[in-house]
Amino acid sequence: MTGNRTFTMIKPDAVENGHIGAILEKITAAGFKIVAMKYTQLSRRDAETFYAIHKERPFFGELVEFMTRGPIVAAILEKDNAVEDFRALIGATNPEQAAEGTIRKLYATSVAENAVHGADSDENAAIEGAFHFSGREIF
Ligand code: GDP
Repeated sequence: MTGNRTFTMIKPDAVENGHIGAILEKITAAGFKIVAMKYTQLSRRDAETFYAIHKERPFFGELVEFMTRGPIVAAILEKDNAVEDFRALIGATNPEQAAEGTIRKLYATSVAENAVHGADSDENAAIEGAFHFSGREIF
């Protein structure tokens, strides 16, 4: 049994490429309710904290550069089985391996610039949501 909330970001590449509206449409059409949302930009410190789990990976520096280079849309989404269903909706990390019709297949450009983030567990969804939103910003 999994929880009913997940956390997402529309990443800087998708914002730059004009895909905010199309991605939000896919998300709501798939049955997710937006319970928190903001348009913001991560500081270097924010990105390093958010992605701390990847700090030993060779691409960590590139990931921080990418995620801080422009605005993002952060959101908390609600649906039964939210984490798993959202990961299915966005598709594999590498858009070349993502299933047809998934958000990354449609809008990502590479494994690095892959359009959207989706939390990978209920625990991380809660941590990531709390990183971006205060209680009064969640509905
Ligand atoms: P996710 O859970 O599908 O987002 O994938 P991961 O947790 O493995 O990686 C986190 C993020 O790091 C990905 O969404 C990409 O933006 C980035 N990333 C993953 N692999 C690479 C890579 O090989 N090079 C670079 N530059 N970034 C990567």
